[in-house]
Amino acid sequence: MRLPVLADQEGKWRLTSSLTQVRFGLEIMTAASRRTALVVVDVQNDFADPKGSLYVQGASGVVEAVNRLVESASGRGWPVFYTQDWHPETTPHFAKDGGIWPVHCVGGSSGAAFHPDLVVEGVSVKKGGAGEDGYSGFTMRDLVEGRDRPTELDSLLRQEQITSVVVVGLALDYCVKDTALDAVRLGYEVEVPLSATAAVNLSPDDGERAIATLRAAGVSVTG
Ligand SMILES: [Zn+2]
Repeated sequence: MRLPVLADQEGKWRLTSSLTQVRFGLEIMTAASRRTALVVVDVQNDFADPKGSLYVQGASGVVEAVNRLVESASGRGWPVFYTQDWHPETTPHFAKDGGIWPVHCVGGSSGAAFHPDLVVEGVSVKKGGAGEDGYSGFTMRDLVEGRDRPTELDSLLRQEQITSVVVVGLALDYCVKDTALDAVRLGYEVEVPLSATAAVNLSPDDGERAIATLRAAGVSVTG
């Protein structure tokens, strides 16, 4: 497109000024229509401390990477939300009660506390407190009734007009994956940066399979 030739300085100024207004307006619209939050999943001692009951290999590097993202999120004015696995002492989620996992993240225990190095700058959503399976930060499954129940995460994000989430933390093949998939289902744009997560890999290729599932669902899986 050829811009009209303007005869005088005043005309040139008017054109520049209106183009600047258009560009500025578009930037505001983009910012307003796409507001992002960082969701930090389950960076708790039982998963992130080598002495934890369900330690995820590579979790120490994850804590550092997550902290860098929390700092950059705060710098950009993005809200940060956290989730915590939060189980009662007896739940069909645990192997001793018929489930598959060793006892972990019992509410109030040191294993359920955030890793001491984690930078915490936002509210935490606790999942599983009534004995449910709580892989996703958005939903908990009642193991007796087989029904899903929402946590407060979706409404917290909507209160902040969030349309896009970056999901990080532990573990890639369980809670990060399920949180990201639920976020897509709920209409969010979702990114999972692999540098800020790690897989349990009960089977050696679980992490790879999780990445394929996330990509197929429309999640942007980045480096
Ligand atoms: Zn759990």
